[in-house]
Amino acid sequence: MKKYLIVVFIFFGLLVATHSLPWGFHGHKIIAKNAIFILPQEMLVFFKTNSNRIIDASIQPDIRRYIYEDEGPNHYIDLELYGDKEDSILFMSWDEAANSIGVDSLVARGILPWAIVRTYYRLTDAFRDKNTELILRYSADLCQYISDAHVPLHTTYNYDGQYTGQEGIHRLWESLIPELSSEKYSYWVGKAEYRENIYAMVRKVILDSHSRQDSVLTFEKVVSGSIRSDQKYAFERRGRNEVKQYSKEFIELYEKELNGMVEHQLRASIKATGDLWYTSWIEAGQPDLSSLITSEKQSGNQKEVSLDSAKTTSNRARIHN
Ligand SMILES: [Zn+2]
Repeated sequence: MKKYLIVVFIFFGLLVATHSLPWGFHGHKIIAKNAIFILPQEMLVFFKTNSNRIIDASIQPDIRRYIYEDEGPNHYIDLELYGDKEDSILFMSWDEAANSIGVDSLVARGILPWAIVRTYYRLTDAFRDKNTELILRYSADLCQYISDAHVPLHTTYNYDGQYTGQEGIHRLWESLIPELSSEKYSYWVGKAEYRENIYAMVRKVILDSHSRQDSVLTFEKVVSGSIRSDQKYAFERRGRNEVKQYSKEFIELYEKELNGMVEHQLRASIKATGDLWYTSWIEAGQPDLSSLITSEKQSGNQKEVSLDSAKTTSNRARIHN
């Protein structure tokens, strides 16, 4: 209990000091919840029975990054920092990349693509072993990492517009917009499909995401130029503090300018998550999950911190720049 309280304390302490989580808690939970419903019948019952645990666990990697220093780089890749290898790095396996660049340099620039692939294989092993706890854990981890890959600002060193005078844009794009608009979005993305080549899939997701970061940054400037400066920000009360953030008017104008990009990426995250879960299960030999349907009870060895109440104040910093 004491340990649990310390973890919560540290986490909230960091929330105050830092800003913006990947997709925010709100977005991650939407993705996990909707990915479950695109699974085939043979998987659906198990995932639905354990849906609360998977949805809650889908934000655990975010929480772990505040506790374990080596978790942070799993969530992003600063593609531009790969210099002349920017075009080739996503074609390399972990071993090839480590040989070519060195593990320390990889970690310094973010290892998101390899974190996705590694977690995918861990999930496949867990399915093969019919290990309920690990299936739930790696399904949730995989959901988080592949979803982060759909956030354009997770693929660039200018991840919070800090080099272009646009600090706060990270939270604007991935938290403030979904929190304002997610109820209007459509989440029907078809059924989960088998993916022949996981490496190619991950590469495509990251390159597509990266290709959008120009618009993400440029449109913020466009809207900033079209709105009175005293209308750009608003002050929101959080506890005893007044926090300056983008105004509702700005968020709406910016989302309009983005022309559905956030909804598109949220939907793509749902599909990609379902596809990866499904492919992993197929590759494991389609194990019968009905024998695993047990209960919603908490795992004894992996405490999950419930942070529902934190979703509207979700903040993060990139602990590892
Ligand atoms: Zn983020």
